[in-house]
Amino acid sequence: MRFYRATTFLFPRSFEHRILFVCFGAVHVPLIACIVLQAITGQWQLTTLVTLLVATLIGTGLGLAAIHALLAPLSQATAMLQAIQTGERVPVVPQGANDLVGRLLDGVATAANESAAPIERLTDAAERDPLTGIRNRRGFLDAAEQVLRSRGNAVLAIIDIDRFKTINDDFGHDTGDALLRSLAKRIEDHLRRSDIAARWGGEEFAVLLPHTTLDEARLVMERLRATVALDKGLGVEDRAVTFSCGLAPVRSFAQLADATKQADEALYAAKNAGRNQVHVIDS
Ligand code: GH3
Ligand code: MG
Ligand code: MG
Repeated sequence: MRFYRATTFLFPRSFEHRILFVCFGAVHVPLIACIVLQAITGQWQLTTLVTLLVATLIGTGLGLAAIHALLAPLSQATAMLQAIQTGERVPVVPQGANDLVGRLLDGVATAANESAAPIERLTDAAERDPLTGIRNRRGFLDAAEQVLRSRGNAVLAIIDIDRFKTINDDFGHDTGDALLRSLAKRIEDHLRRSDIAARWGGEEFAVLLPHTTLDEARLVMERLRATVALDKGLGVEDRAVTFSCGLAPVRSFAQLADATKQADEALYAAKNAGRNQVHVIDS
């Protein structure tokens, strides 16, 4: 530490410049020694001097470039540690060799993992519905924003359980809760991994089907509707549980709010037409 501190006056804000400066000086020692020797003896050998000068310049250039490159992982590790301190997520920490830099990068990776776990737990808690365990509205919008970045057709489905209030009234709130959990599971099981399902609020669910046409989405939701209507294992003794569903196309994340209104209109139409139906927005 003593030499490190003693040399801080050279470039107080740049460790890298200090190392480069020290190397620059070291590379010039043979040239300076040669000049001093020839000056003392008075025997000037120009060829030797020029050769040494050229070799020194080449050595300086190559040495500085190599040291600059060798110091790059240190700058990277520092930047990553700063990011971790400000709570940013550090995606991938590069692996070093079994040396000082490698051990430093290992330390950064450990710090990144330790700080990422609580952040992920908090994000997860903020984006999940505690009752059903699937995404809540916020989680849905976050995931939808990622998915809708890439262009392509998507469809939004809004699902609303039919006469849910009477299930609560007739069987109790706990049965209503159990039904919400079972339906959330049925919806997730029915979908592709790339689809996004969420509890939209109360007894409503939202589903985003990326890269899907309205016709395909209607088929998917019709199949889910029929499966649920026949399902005896949803937790409500002798009562058939049905839902109504409204579908609307989504072209971009910016247009998702409009698509939600349209899907709501389609849902309203499905309710008015007698419930237990899937309706598509009449465009
Ligand atoms: P419709 O067919 O027109 O949709 O009728 P509905 O009875 O399903 O609709 P309504 O909006 O009148 O009732 C929704 C009910 O959902 C009212 C509310 O008490 C109930 N609810 C909302 N959130 C929860 C919940 O977390 N658990 C339970 N058990 N009930 C809930
Ligand atoms: Mg409702
Ligand atoms: Mg309802």
